[in-house]
Amino acid sequence: MPLAWSFTTGPTARLEDIDMAVDTYGREINYLRLSVTDLCNLRCRYCMPEEGICKKDHHEMLTEEEMILAVQAAASLGIHKLRLTGGEPLVKKNILSICERSAAVEGIRELCLTTNGTLLPQMAKALKAVGVDRLNISLDTLDPDKYAYITRNGTLKQALCGLEAALEAGFEPLKINAVLIGGFNDDEIPALAELTYRYPTDVRFIELMPMTENEEFGQQAYLPGSAVLSALPELTQAEQEDGVAKLYQLPDARGNVGIISAVSSHFCLDCNRIRLTADGKLKPCLHSNQEFPIKGLDYDGMRREMERVILSKPACHAPLSAAERSHAGRNMNQIGG
Ligand code: SAM
Ligand code: SF4
Repeated sequence: MPLAWSFTTGPTARLEDIDMAVDTYGREINYLRLSVTDLCNLRCRYCMPEEGICKKDHHEMLTEEEMILAVQAAASLGIHKLRLTGGEPLVKKNILSICERSAAVEGIRELCLTTNGTLLPQMAKALKAVGVDRLNISLDTLDPDKYAYITRNGTLKQALCGLEAALEAGFEPLKINAVLIGGFNDDEIPALAELTYRYPTDVRFIELMPMTENEEFGQQAYLPGSAVLSALPELTQAEQEDGVAKLYQLPDARGNVGIISAVSSHFCLDCNRIRLTADGKLKPCLHSNQEFPIKGLDYDGMRREMERVILSKPACHAPLSAAERSHAGRNMNQIGG
């Protein structure tokens, strides 16, 4: 097996499994984000319409077999990190089997899952047992009324029980993701960051991305990541890890405070990922409408499309700002974040 391979080294390399895929801009692509469903038990106002989504026909969605084939094809191209996301991945009936089989794919070294946490009380231990390495939990507020408002039907207590269940099951350190929303949780930046004292967890603040038309969560709701630095002058820079978050720390805290400046300062130069939607579309970039369908393909076909998607990764996505919407053409629940 060659140690490294780049798409510019010639077509014969395509026949072999490789340890590292490099795109046309010299970036190593080693991370697949797989959305296992676009359905969700919550309806976060910035992510999904109130009525949910128009449920697609079963036959339009990837089957479990297809998801596993896709993970195998990705691993053969040097992808070693896999994140399962959604929609809410834990509402998927066969999620434990998908996790177990994905974790067993040769070449997959890290299996992560992003969840709203509400189903973790009953599922955290089982997720650990089937090989999930890391959990990210989304939590935008610590106020029960605001939680019910932003999620349209969720209960804060359930999400917090989920967080504790994850820690009890051994998911340590955890990552908590909070979307920064002006006029909604800007006053809670200190309280959310203080979770890094209470729990062995990082708290990462994500800039709100303008995905589709959304009157309430458009331009006026956007807050730059720098709002976190203004709210918490005691933050000091922490050791930077691989990844998209810039890391800071509160004095003597157990975890880091991260800022993910997805809008104000994109990280395209270091992009290492491709995405696969639950309806079988490979996406070279979160904010592009370019999609490569793989539903119905066999292993070789999927692998070919994955090569194409890696080769098609743009240098950078079109500028995003509070006023300039993403070109993705999908809501976040249909991509996976
Ligand atoms: N349901 C799971 C959850 O909420 O963690 C996984 C899917 S959700 C689409 C993944 C992440 O995307 C969540 O952290 C969510 O807050 C974030 N997200 C959704 N819409 C967003 C937007 N417009 N801008 C920034 N982040 C967004
Ligand atoms: Fe569901 Fe996650 Fe979107 Fe909230 S952010 S509606 S929990 S998919």
